[in-house]
Order: sequence, then structure tokens, then C-alpha cells
Amino acid sequence: MEMAQGMGRRAAAPREAQVTPPRTLTVLGATGSIGLSTLDLVGRDPDAFEIIALTAHRNVARLAELAIAHRARLAVIGEAHLYGELKDRLAGTGIEAAAGTEALVEAASRKADCVMAAIVGAAGLAPTLAAVRQGTRIALANKECLVSAGMVFMQAVAEAGAALIPVDSEHSAAFQAIDGAPGALIERITLTASGGPFRSWSHAQLAAARPEQALAHPTWSMGAKISIDSATLMNKGLELIEAYHLFPVEAHQLDVVVHPQSIVHCLVSYRDGSVLAQMAAPDMRTPIAYALAWPSRMDAPTERLDLVRLASLTFEAPDEERFPALALARQAMAAGGGACTVLNGANEIAVEAFLAGAIGFLDIAALVADTLDAAAAKGLFAPAQTLDEVLALDGQARALARSLLEGYG
Ligand code: NAD
Ligand code: MG
Repeated sequence: MEMAQGMGRRAAAPREAQVTPPRTLTVLGATGSIGLSTLDLVGRDPDAFEIIALTAHRNVARLAELAIAHRARLAVIGEAHLYGELKDRLAGTGIEAAAGTEALVEAASRKADCVMAAIVGAAGLAPTLAAVRQGTRIALANKECLVSAGMVFMQAVAEAGAALIPVDSEHSAAFQAIDGAPGALIERITLTASGGPFRSWSHAQLAAARPEQALAHPTWSMGAKISIDSATLMNKGLELIEAYHLFPVEAHQLDVVVHPQSIVHCLVSYRDGSVLAQMAAPDMRTPIAYALAWPSRMDAPTERLDLVRLASLTFEAPDEERFPALALARQAMAAGGGACTVLNGANEIAVEAFLAGAIGFLDIAALVADTLDAAAAKGLFAPAQTLDEVLALDGQARALARSLLEGYG
């Protein structure tokens, strides 16, 4: 597949950037699944890290508790009306409190050796870009940044000389297996997918799937949005786009294979026939530890692999008929950066609507497909050149998806 102009290409080799393990750390999205796993690791070696800032969307009690436990200098709650409650909960601790979306960006801009970008969705875009612009190490979990704003994001990474270390398990695996090798040596990168909770469900079963069934992931424990994305396989589609921006290969060199055990996370095939794969138990603390300690390694208390007990690892091709989201992501990649912004925004609306019981499971991919068609008809696929343009296009995509939503359910 040919990549349209303007997708943007990775510009910075992380190897050239900062190589001392971080001491000071900010966690954007501290109350989420990735944020809590990060703080679990930090809490096991509290002398190794100093927390600059922790942020959350609206779970003010949990945020205050984490800020106190980890002696953060600053705690920021995204919802501005929760400022008073945060301030009260932090009274007498010496921890600074702030609230609102601008405060999130300000927290991300504070000097830190590493910023863990673990907000979910395009809401993480402005704060994560602010962190990038301080030229520090970004441990990137928030994959929607690269899907929605790949070109703008990678340009900012290059300009600031930031070290971008992927946290997504497949991309951490690829980063480790590539280890700075030039693109000319790589033939193919194969991301593995668990297949999600509905891997073997029929079309009729999928049509009736309920949110609580979609949230019950067989191998990974994750936040709600990515759990639904895993059930539709949109997560793997987003990850193809993420990989395209992170690694020196073309879109046609990126592949997906279903591997229900989630032990092998990615395979990198070289031109001499060698295939380097990374394996680990399905626990995000391994890729998080890698991003925090790179280029060194730190302890992570995860289950160790017992290959004899596992006995077999299996692989199968994804079924793109039952799971059309993968093809939609490839289609958006081929159409260019603007289409990826639309794909991401529409998917966020569709997942929200499914979780709210407003649409069925199969409607998620259908709504994304309809939004892509409607956006193409309106000529909305021009790649955005700035953060403001990305946010404007993201807003248009969401509005289109919401208006199409009325025809569903
Ligand atoms: P989560 O829903 O558990 O946590 C999200 C965090 O972001 C929370 O701290 C929440 O307070 C914050 N947040 C949400 N909306 C916000 C907003 N509008 N403004 C400010 N903060 C907001 O999500 P998660 O599972 O931890 O995932 C975080 C990111 O990491 C996602 O992009 C996801 O795709 C990616 N990721 C997660 C996993 C995983 O195992 N959980 C694996 C790979 C990648
Ligand atoms: Mg992943």
C-alpha cells in the first residue's frame, strides 16, 4: 500500500537523545491503569524517583491520595470545578494543587527527566505535546497522540530532541528488537493481537455483545476505552498507525497476527531471514519499566515466563470480516494524516456511545466507517499542520460522528 503524502515520518532516532535514566518523573493520567502501574513500580524504589506532577481527569480522591503517597510537588485535576476539593484534600501537605485543562498543560511543561504520557484519547494531545516541547524523555502510552496527530507530534519530537520511548507493549517489543537498526535492514514488523474477548464469537453473537462482556479482556487488565478497542480490534488498527510513525518502515511492511496467549508481543523480521521477537508475561509493568529505565533495565515484579508450563504458543490470521476495524485503520493510513485524525475522533465517540448503551457492538466500526466516508465527501482529509488544526479536525470528526449516531441504535 502506498502511503499518502503528509502522514509525517518519524524524524528522531531515540538513541541520539537523552541516555541517563530519569530521576524526576511526571505522570499524566496517574489514576488510570497505566498511571497506577507506573506508580506501583516507582513505589517499590521510592529513592530512585522524585515525582514532579501527577494528573487526573476527575477522580480527585484518588489523585490526592497518590500525590500524598508519592510526595508529588504538584497535583492537577482536569475538571476545573474540582479545584476546591483537591485543595482541601491536600491542605497542610505542602503539595501544590491546580485544576483545568491549561493546568494540565502547565504541569506537563514543568521540567522533569521523564513524562509518562498515560491520558487516554485525544484529550492527552495538548499536555503530551507540551511535555515533548520541553525536550525530555516521553514514555508514550497515549497512542491516540500518534494516531490523531502523528505528523505534528513527530515533528515536535524532532524539533525538541525529545526521546520518545513507546510504552504500548507491542511497540516496546519492536523498539527492543530493532534497537536502533536502520530501516533498510528491516523487512517486516508483525504486531501481535490477543484477539480480544470475542475472538471466536459469531457475527450474530457479536451483534448482541454487551459492554460488560467487551470489557472482560482475556489476557490484559486495562482501562475501559482500550478494552473496547481490543474487542473490536480497532486497538490493533491504532497500533499499526502508531508503529508507522515510530519505526523506519513503510505501511506495507506492517502486519498483524493473532496470538491469544499474549506472550510474544512483536516480531521484527530482518532481510537475512532472522526474526527477533520479544516475549514477556502480559503485564504492562514490563514495558513501563523498560521506558523508565532505558537504556538500562530495572526490576519489575511480574510473573516470569515458564515455557514448559505454557507448552504452546499459537498464531492465526485476524478475521477482517468479523472485525472490520483493522481494515478501516489501514484505509485511513492510505488516505493520509487527516483521515487518521477522523478515524480516531469517530472511534472515541463510537466507543463512548457503545459503553453508554446507545449503539451495538458492531455499530462501533460501522459508525467509524460512515464518519470516514462523510468526512471524505466533505474534503476533510487534508493533513493538519499544527496542534490547533488537529484539534479542529478532531472536533469536526466528533461532530460528524455524533450527527450520524442519530441513525443508529
Ligand atoms: P484509563 O482509562 O485507565 O486511564 C486514563 C487516565 O487518563 C486516567 O488517569 C484519567 O483520569 C485520565 N484522563 C481521562 N480523560 C481525561 C481528560 N479528558 N483529561 C485529563 N485526563 C484524562 O486508561 P489506560 O488503560 O491507563 O490507558 C491510557 C493510555 O495508554 C491509552 O491511550 C491507552 O490506549 C494506552 N495503553 C494502555 C494500556 C493498558 O494496558 N492499560 C496498554 C497499552 C496502551
Ligand atoms: Mg498494545
